[in-house]
Amino acid sequence: MPDTRAQDTAELHTGVLVIGGGMAGAWGAIAAARAGASVILVDKGYCGTSGVTATAGPGHWWVPPDPPEARPAAIAARNLGAAGLGDPHWMAAVIDLTWRVLPTLASHYDFPRNEAGAVQYRGLRGPEYLRALRRLAIELGVRVLDHWPALELLRDGDGLISGARGVQRQQGDRPWRIRAGAVLLATGGTAFRSHLLGAHNNTGDGYLMGAEAGATLSGMEFTAAYTVAPARSTMTRTMSYAYASYSDAAGRALDIPAGPDNSRALARALLQGPVFARFDRMPEQVRRWLPAISPNVMLPFDRWGIDPWRDRFEVTLHNDGTIRGTGGLRVTDQDCGVGVPGLYAAGDAATRELVAGAISGGGAQNSAWALSSAHWAARAAADFAARRGAVDPHLKALGRAGMRPAKSARAVDARQAIAAVQARMHPYDRNIFRTGTGLRSSAEALESVWAALRDHAHGGTDPVRTREAAAMAATARWSVASALHRSESRGMHQRDDLPAADPRQARRLESGGLDAVWVRADTRAPRSPASSSPPRPEAATPP
Ligand SMILES: Cc1cc2nc3c(=O)[nH]c(=O)nc-3n(C[C@H](O)[C@H](O)[C@H](O)COP(=O)(O)OP(=O)(O)OC[C@H]3O[C@@H](n4cnc5c(N)ncnc54)[C@H](O)[C@@H]3O)c2cc1C
Repeated sequence: MPDTRAQDTAELHTGVLVIGGGMAGAWGAIAAARAGASVILVDKGYCGTSGVTATAGPGHWWVPPDPPEARPAAIAARNLGAAGLGDPHWMAAVIDLTWRVLPTLASHYDFPRNEAGAVQYRGLRGPEYLRALRRLAIELGVRVLDHWPALELLRDGDGLISGARGVQRQQGDRPWRIRAGAVLLATGGTAFRSHLLGAHNNTGDGYLMGAEAGATLSGMEFTAAYTVAPARSTMTRTMSYAYASYSDAAGRALDIPAGPDNSRALARALLQGPVFARFDRMPEQVRRWLPAISPNVMLPFDRWGIDPWRDRFEVTLHNDGTIRGTGGLRVTDQDCGVGVPGLYAAGDAATRELVAGAISGGGAQNSAWALSSAHWAARAAADFAARRGAVDPHLKALGRAGMRPAKSARAVDARQAIAAVQARMHPYDRNIFRTGTGLRSSAEALESVWAALRDHAHGGTDPVRTREAAAMAATARWSVASALHRSESRGMHQRDDLPAADPRQARRLESGGLDAVWVRADTRAPRSPASSSPPRPEAATPP
């Protein structure tokens, strides 16, 4: 497969290139290989431990077809919560595909049984899940390239996306170029490096690469989900907080509900001073199970010598950005295409509004979406690549901000740029308690961060970090502009200056633009896969 066209660039070619090796990327690689494509998967980290699934215990939206009323009831309940932005047809398609496909992992993952002997599919052990996906992908012939971050997409003379370029982190950033018949973006979302567990590599690279290729975004105002964690830790696993009680520095009880939707109350208390928690409401049986269900949750407590059931410990909130938020690349068709020939998106790289609406899809919908969108996208990518045939080697590289300065090249401190983005996207008083004035001030600040990266930044000694800064700045700009445009409160997007929902705004917002950001009401709904594309037989193995 390697050829030696350029001396110091690793040159490869494949049918489908999957960028990102988390839950969506790994499932996408498997689906494309099962559809007969040659597949390369590149990950910024190590596929199997990278991404937000590998450290968690992902629960899937798991609704068997019996009794027949269960699925319509689950969809109706979720659609109600979606605050007018969900799509019941996509929800039905995701539930069905998840139910058919997840059990096909049984050869590589040991699904547990309950006391009655029934196999349990809904909740998976993240590290083992990702390891199983990696093993299955490799067995199916997928070439997995770890520590190979993609920096930019490539396009041929006919406007077809034809691969990507990046660097090999463990080879001194030696460049690589992969020609591909189609590309699947599965780069996850971004929490703007908030210390959300497992999210360090997720810097919104796919959003920027997609936008540079001509794709648009949707739901970018929904970046105001936050997750509680012990202060000075990344342990944003939340199950235990269902049994928490909260108090202030003086030990006075705080009136904060146990969860799950308590982040506004917690944020309000945190703006007044330190907040402490204790899992004193956790039943004895759950305490015994905890180390087995969520082994990493106890690690920080053990290290600090804290008994979380007895001792109070300080807590904080980490921003979830688009990870437990819902925004991402706008899906334009039933194949999870993004409106650019040869380019597809899956998982958190794509918007999850279709299945989650204006509230978080974390907990069930996100995992089911990652699996399902990856399947639709990967099969379409495999078909596209097969129909297209050989890819022209003369390709245009599409990366701009952080790679090819629009004006004079000079040193731009990527760390500082990232800190400036975080200063707008993390503080509770800016991103949870939103106002027009605050958002306008953030939009201005982000413009100058973006302008420096666009006009002057080049890869320099750290091409990956510089590009990450550009991706985070771009994502923050779309998010703030969308939040300003949505002049109401809906789901996780709460405007303190406009606290009511406006029924006329019960529609999704599309955003885009690199030089000048724009936002508009989205009146076109992508057709759902359920209406035309039943799952293929190789995946149809119901439990
Ligand atoms: C703590 C936690 C618990 C969660 N629990 C649940 C749950 O119970 N149920 C649920 O539905 N959802 C849950 N979620 C959300 C769910 O895990 C995500 O929606 C899901 O993992 C998305 O998969 P993904 O593959 O799109 O992204 P990720 O799993 O984040 O994977 C993205 C991958 O892309 C790679 N990447 C990024 N940029 C590049 C680049 N430039 N080049 C190459 N590779 C790149 C990253 O290294 C990473 O491996 C949870 C999230 C968190 C943070």
